[in-house]
Amino acid sequence: MACNKFMSYQVSARKWRPQNFSEVIGQGHIVQTLKNALLNKRIGHAYLFSGTRGVGKTTMARIFAKALNCVKGPTPEPCNECEMCRDITGGYCPDVVEIDGASNTGVDDVRELRENVKYASSKGKYKVYIVDEVHMLSKPAFNAFLKTLEEPPAHIIFIFATTEPNKIPETVISRCQYFEFKRISINDVVEQLMLITKKEGINVSRDMLTLIAKSAEGSMRDALVAMDQILSFSGDTIREEDVKIILGFVGREVLSSFMNSIIQKDIQNILKLVKELTINGTDLRIFCKEFLEYIRNLMVIKVSANPASLIDLSTVDIEHFKSEAEKISMEELQQMFNIILKTEADLRYASQPPLIIEMALIKMTQVGKIMTVDEILKRLENLGQKTEDKRQKTENREQKAESRATAPVEEKDISRLWERIKELVSAKKPSLGGILEDIKLSNIKGDEIILNFKEKASESFHRKTIELNQNVIRDTIKEVIGREVKIILEASSKGESSKRSLSGNDIEKWKREKIQEVIDIIPGVVIQEVGGDPEHVSG
Ligand SMILES: [Zn+2]
Repeated sequence: MACNKFMSYQVSARKWRPQNFSEVIGQGHIVQTLKNALLNKRIGHAYLFSGTRGVGKTTMARIFAKALNCVKGPTPEPCNECEMCRDITGGYCPDVVEIDGASNTGVDDVRELRENVKYASSKGKYKVYIVDEVHMLSKPAFNAFLKTLEEPPAHIIFIFATTEPNKIPETVISRCQYFEFKRISINDVVEQLMLITKKEGINVSRDMLTLIAKSAEGSMRDALVAMDQILSFSGDTIREEDVKIILGFVGREVLSSFMNSIIQKDIQNILKLVKELTINGTDLRIFCKEFLEYIRNLMVIKVSANPASLIDLSTVDIEHFKSEAEKISMEELQQMFNIILKTEADLRYASQPPLIIEMALIKMTQVGKIMTVDEILKRLENLGQKTEDKRQKTENREQKAESRATAPVEEKDISRLWERIKELVSAKKPSLGGILEDIKLSNIKGDEIILNFKEKASESFHRKTIELNQNVIRDTIKEVIGREVKIILEASSKGESSKRSLSGNDIEKWKREKIQEVIDIIPGVVIQEVGGDPEHVSG
């Protein structure tokens, strides 16, 4: 810790360390119990403080030591002015001994401790031993401690702190008053950072402090460390970009680029963006966490009439999310959320994190395939209903049942539907998707889907491929509209009409013709039917 890099943080974290119970953040339940104990003079011999790092365990221990030894003590409100209080704050009170379990794991240290505890405190009422990271003590060291705990001298108080209480023997835990420290909420951390920066005259927005608080994950100390790193990087005016660089956040704009590329299924751009992330040294797990929150925000915006109360975002951001949320369905968001959630977990053990991220994002481009089926189906039903209503006004009501099935669908809906089908076909079989660009969906009549070649030239070129792959197209249409259809492949309207329905026989006939052509050209050639579908991309 003598390293210069950390000097500034030590100053800040020490400077702003709470000096009495009322300044301790987010641990109200423990503060109350300890204050009551001091008030009622019911002081235990051993305390165990457990909780994640930076939540105030040793700070609480020092305040408690002060509360015990203050000239006015034991008191819930140590004066912070008497000699004892000042010595304890300064860290040079001989009656408050801090032991780092991580560096005192040998049994000898504990023996030494046992020798020392025999002697009464020098000036204070109590001799307080604060043992940090107590779980790091070796088993013999624990046993030596137990001996002391079994018959503790009246003036001795042990406060054990640990991040891993499960590693502490039950025999020790059972002799301690056990307090579990909570992670500090983001809001509490932000409030505290607001207070500190205001007092220090540092110009920083609440949004940026929220970023810092999020990255600290409930640890006040981590938040202060981050704060100091940012200050030493950017001076007393903190810019959002600096905060993001230091904390490793990618930020809303980058996440938005990702989301747009996913919506547009622009895999090339997704790969480019991932490359940029890795070049910038972004922590990909932080990226996942941010992306999860981004998706969550989109979901909240979709379902909430008053999203501002549920999302910690500026009005500008909320408007941005609103427009983006319109492009994507709730089901798609849910699937994306699950994909990223799993990816975040996978990254822990991944040897090549960028690959995992790439695959996850590409997978996300496929989610609509599964989800919008219901939506499109619903829309088609609605369309059928609407058209039917129109017809009912002018036509004989007795034709109702039939008219529904054969009602023509509006053109702009057809073209939207066709775009979707093409996307899905492309995902399964890119080459076929490309050919479909030369074809348009001209109508849906009952269970017949009528496709048209746009140009005569492309018809002669692609008809056979389409016919051969009609099952792919038909299955995709079934996925989208939810029922079996028959594909009618019509010639270009610019040429002569050669409307025909595809059948298995036609294809077999065409295959035989082609095979014969090859045999004619290359005598003796062996022709083998190739199974499978090498271009098929599984969603
Ligand atoms: Zn005092």
